Amino acid sequence: MQKIKLPVSVDPVRAAQKGLELEGRIPKELMSRLAESTISVHSDIDAVFSFDIDKQKLRIFHGKASVAVELICQRCNEPMLYQCEAEFTYCPVHNQEQENNLPDAYESIYYDENGEVNLHQVVEDELILVLPQIAKHAINECQQSEYEITFGEIDEDEQRPNPFDALAQLKRK
Ligand SMILES: [Zn+2]
Repeated sequence: MQKIKLPVSVDPVRAAQKGLELEGRIPKELMSRLAESTISVHSDIDAVFSFDIDKQKLRIFHGKASVAVELICQRCNEPMLYQCEAEFTYCPVHNQEQENNLPDAYESIYYDENGEVNLHQVVEDELILVLPQIAKHAINECQQSEYEITFGEIDEDEQRPNPFDALAQLKRK
């Protein structure tokens, strides 16, 4: 097992054969789409990847990524820090047929023209997917908490199923 810095892209076939584990940081400046989805990206991104061959001989990789971002609290409209944590398992595919035959546990990703997959892109996609649609401070840190406690408002946003969750699920299929 080797541990090296996180490259932009890897050949997942060779990586799986070697049982490669990667651990590294991605500079926040490289996450422009994540920056657009938040007020700001507060830290560099920590990411780990492990490559493997599963029982069906599929080459897969599992990963985790975490980053602190700044979001607007929807209760008090003040900025808040949010620790964004993503965890994912991908199986690289060459075509639609392979994609359709994947076990549900895996997300698909297409090999690029060099037979590699872009790890930075995976990390950014996954972090954006786990951003809360409605960000809120913890009740004891929120400017509006006194108001809510006094009047006992029911927080409907937290109880309704979020339509974006369903969308995120669909996108993963
Ligand atoms: Zn707040």
